Parts: sequence; structure tokens; C-alpha cells
Amino acid sequence: MPALFISDLHLSEDRPAANERFFSFLEETAPAAGSLYILGDFFESWIGDDDLAYPFNAVIAGVLRELSSHGVALYLMHGNRDFLIGPRFCEATGATLLEDPTVVELEGEKTLLMHGDTLCTDDLDYQAWRRTARSSAWQRDFLGKSLAERRQAIVGMREKSKEVISAKPAEIMDVNPGAVQEAMKQHGVKRLIHGHTHRPGRHTVDLGEVRGERWVLPDWYGRGGYLSVSGKNLKLVPF
Ligand code: MN
Repeated sequence: MPALFISDLHLSEDRPAANERFFSFLEETAPAAGSLYILGDFFESWIGDDDLAYPFNAVIAGVLRELSSHGVALYLMHGNRDFLIGPRFCEATGATLLEDPTVVELEGEKTLLMHGDTLCTDDLDYQAWRRTARSSAWQRDFLGKSLAERRQAIVGMREKSKEVISAKPAEIMDVNPGAVQEAMKQHGVKRLIHGHTHRPGRHTVDLGEVRGERWVLPDWYGRGGYLSVSGKNLKLVPF
């Protein structure tokens, strides 16, 4: 049974087409998998597990629970949009939260899993913001606000981030090749799977004595898709 990898679905009430593709994926494709790995930015935003009761969130959690209760091992990694997903969400869905980075063994091949944002080391503004947002002080303050205040804050952040992103050269928003080599060498892997950059594909990585491979998952802003790992066979499947 294959292991399937998805990321960057950016699920939100505002984009029903992507939600429908996700429901179809869960009905038609995912049940035949041994495991499903969601490598971050599953939600467009996540303002805290106390928002689980919000109807849209409850529906999404429900379909994940259905999948995991049918025996598909479900793994979830934080992205830069949904890093506040916590134990309550995992309990509700049957998902296991993975650290970023995590090394898993897939059919004997050590594979490094990341969301991918930490590899974009040329984007200094973003890395500074990431350090802030991942600090316990910031999270305590943010989670201390009411749901309405947090929702409002997210709208403000998204507007600001749109402006900042449109002003940045495209290469800054991609991974830094040195950061990729370093991460792969540090973890002793020849294979890396990540999302975040919205530039799906397979890249060869020069690791000195050996060549590694870096698989980038597609985002679902576009048509979306997934990576299937079956034995030694890896395949990016667009919808
Ligand atoms: Mn991302």
C-alpha cells in the first residue's frame, strides 16, 4: 500500500473547489493508501484548536477522522499557516503530529520530511517573522485573544503578507540550495520531500559523494495533486 504525501492545500471556506478536490481525494484515492502525510499548510489559517467547533473546521476534522478510523495512518506537520494546530485537533482527527524536520524510513529508504519554509533562508524577513510566531510568548499572547480578535488579526496579516510577497523577487521565495544540502547531509538522507514553495517537481541534489533527490509537492491553489511512494517507485500525480 502506497504512502501518499500532500501539502499546501490551503483549505478555507473561500475556495470550495480545492475543498471538493480534497473530499474526492479522500473518497477515491486515500483509502487505498497505507499512510497519508500532510506536510503543512493544510489549512489557509488555523487560529487555535479552540476553533474546532467552527462548522468548516468540524467538517474537515470529521473527514480526516473517517480516513484514520479506516486504518490509514495519518501524519500531520505544521506549515507556516497552520502552525497552531495542536493536540486537540490531532485527537479529533486521529492524526500524529510530526516535528519539522522528521526522518521516516519508507521501504528502507531514509527520507527527510519538511514543510519547506525553513529552507528558504534567503527570505530574511520571513525567517525573522517565523522566529517570532513560533515563540511561546507570541503564541501565548495570540491564543489569549478571543476567536473574533484572532480571526481579525489573521485578515490583517494576510493583507500585509500579500504586499510583502508581491514585492519580493521570485528566487528569494524558493529554497536555498546550500540549506537543502546541509539539511540532507545533517540527517544522513538521500531523499527529501517538502512543500511550501508551490514549485512541484523532482530535483537532483549534489551531496558530494552521492546524488540525492528533492521532491516538491504541488499546492492546491492550482489544480493540486499528491506524491505517491510505492516500493522504490515515486510518482507525482497531478489532478
Ligand atoms: Mn507554506
